[in-house]
Amino acid sequence: QYAGPSYQKTELVKSEHLPPAMYNIYKRPLLLHQGHMQWLYDHDGRRYLDLFGGIVTVSVGHCHPKVVGALQDQINTLWHCTNIYRHPKIYEYVETLVSKFPGDLKVVYLVNSGSEANDLATVLAKAYTGNLDVVSLQSSYHGYSSSLMGLTATQSYRMPLPVPPGFYHTMLPDPYRGIWGGCRDSLSQVAGACACPGDCVTADKYIHQLNELLENSIPAGRLAALFAESIQGVNGTVQFPKGYLKKAHQLVKKYGGLYVADEVQTGFGRTGDAFWGFENHGVVPDIVTMAKGIGNGFPMAAVVTTKEIAAAHAKATYFNTFGGNPMAAAVGQAVLEVIEEEELQKNCKEIGAYFVEQLVQLQAVHPVIGDVRGKGLMLGIEFVKPGTKDALPVAEVSEIHENMKDLGVLIGRGGRWSNVLRIKPPMCVNKQDVDFTVTVLDQAIKEYLNNKK
Ligand code: PMP
Repeated sequence: QYAGPSYQKTELVKSEHLPPAMYNIYKRPLLLHQGHMQWLYDHDGRRYLDLFGGIVTVSVGHCHPKVVGALQDQINTLWHCTNIYRHPKIYEYVETLVSKFPGDLKVVYLVNSGSEANDLATVLAKAYTGNLDVVSLQSSYHGYSSSLMGLTATQSYRMPLPVPPGFYHTMLPDPYRGIWGGCRDSLSQVAGACACPGDCVTADKYIHQLNELLENSIPAGRLAALFAESIQGVNGTVQFPKGYLKKAHQLVKKYGGLYVADEVQTGFGRTGDAFWGFENHGVVPDIVTMAKGIGNGFPMAAVVTTKEIAAAHAKATYFNTFGGNPMAAAVGQAVLEVIEEEELQKNCKEIGAYFVEQLVQLQAVHPVIGDVRGKGLMLGIEFVKPGTKDALPVAEVSEIHENMKDLGVLIGRGGRWSNVLRIKPPMCVNKQDVDFTVTVLDQAIKEYLNNKK
């Protein structure tokens, strides 16, 4: 039973005391107060299927009993001791976390958010290479801070302020909207199945662009790092042509830089075929950043790198008051155990493949669906004006989005024109949830079309 302030009261407080820049996903935002696994409950007692998981954050399920139990035990024992002391949970956790990584990725920095992780990764890359310039992909989102406003290459998240020097953006290898088309990295699903026998030929064209940037725009010997997600999240689930990231990795090495994989959205088994998104591309990064799903919604994040890179960073003391507190370590450990015990990576693969199949069938009925894409449980549905690739106007996508909410499904938004619905649910969703979603989406589109008549 909901016992908080009235909806009207929360609206009033929001307008008086919370910043107007705050991200609002619905015209009439939801007042949520309870969650269980893939389900959320609002103040009126209405139940919603959560396909966005607090933006890819709830990985193993809202209030998963094992994670809640681990946190409760820790809270009852010791809240906080900062990393100037030792605590057994932290040691247990970092050992489990590094066991998930290939190669020499053995050193863990525990931090508090994805932005903080990416900020630290830029420091590590600069400390190790002695270089200052950093490249990311156009339309990327890597966090919100005064320095990350340079790394994040999406206008809507950037204030009209001077961006710190040393950030460059390379052309986005987007198979759907990019000028060269191309097929996707995903081999395991219906949509996006790559027809190229080897690497996709368009990957080379985008690699040529990256080479131009590294050779021509960045002063020689100045490259510190390339940052990339394994599938772009905020920009509406953009997969890259097969072979692109592998070749980008090789190129960056040639120019003396490091490769940083931002696994904030793609990590922890979500893409199904691999625990980390970068593994789908056959690369082993120098630095990996992670957040969101790492703690199933508990505020925590991490940077994992090699001993060599961490050694270069040891020129100055590293301190972080909350990073690696025992509560975060207890939660992180429980999350990793649940992913394993409940075979959630396998579930992402199977349910994701089924989801894509069903969505592709719906696309055949509704020409307003221009593209269905993604891998595992990181999917995107792009809305267009039928028969074109022009984005469906934002108000019309909002109508479909709101209709879905009213019918009981919460789904994300993204893409440059906010015309992509993003599916990144708690990884425990099942086939019935997919069937329910597809029925709801069909109905939501029909209602929108009826309204338009
Ligand atoms: N990287 C990616 C890929 C993200 O999607 C986000 C958040 N949307 C961040 C970094 C920043 O994470 P946080 O909001 O925890 O700072």
